Amino acid sequence: MNAFGGPFAVSTHELARRPGESRHLNTTVLAPQDLGSDIIAVPLDGPIELDLLLESVLEGVLVTGRVRTMARGACVRCLEDVELPLDLSIQELFAYPERMEAARESGAEDAEERMLIGETADIEPTVRDAIVLGLPFQPVCAEDCPGLCPTCGERLDSDPGHRHEVRDPRWSALAALTEREEKS
Ligand SMILES: [Zn+2]
Ligand SMILES: [Zn+2]
Repeated sequence: MNAFGGPFAVSTHELARRPGESRHLNTTVLAPQDLGSDIIAVPLDGPIELDLLLESVLEGVLVTGRVRTMARGACVRCLEDVELPLDLSIQELFAYPERMEAARESGAEDAEERMLIGETADIEPTVRDAIVLGLPFQPVCAEDCPGLCPTCGERLDSDPGHRHEVRDPRWSALAALTEREEKS
């Protein structure tokens, strides 16, 4: 009957329809597929720690807490591996179906709101949104990563002082440009 289950399906059995009740949930789940971008993502089956408070409110069950995990990717400047710890806050109301319908009929549709399925809250979309939005578009290995040498492609961080023989200073800028173009 339940179309979904799995680690992100949180039971609210002892909370539903009992406003004022609450319980803590501390658990570690494994990351689903495609949790991020090509540049940086939480690897498949990487551990995600959930530290949540489930509160029974009139409209449904309110889930508040933190999501902690490790993302992996590559520095956009020097292509070194990057490990990025994430510690994100989430909050989402899982409404009772009839509350949602009542809200819709009164014209106060809230597209953000999610719904309880039976007594279960599927928190995967909430966790996914938090992580995807929490990832940087341009991950770097260090804020001041100097990137790659435009002339030879060496990581400048491992050899900051290295130089290339400059032919004619007037043409060196142009030469560097041409070399870069030849590379790409
Ligand atoms: Zn870097
Ligand atoms: Zn160089």
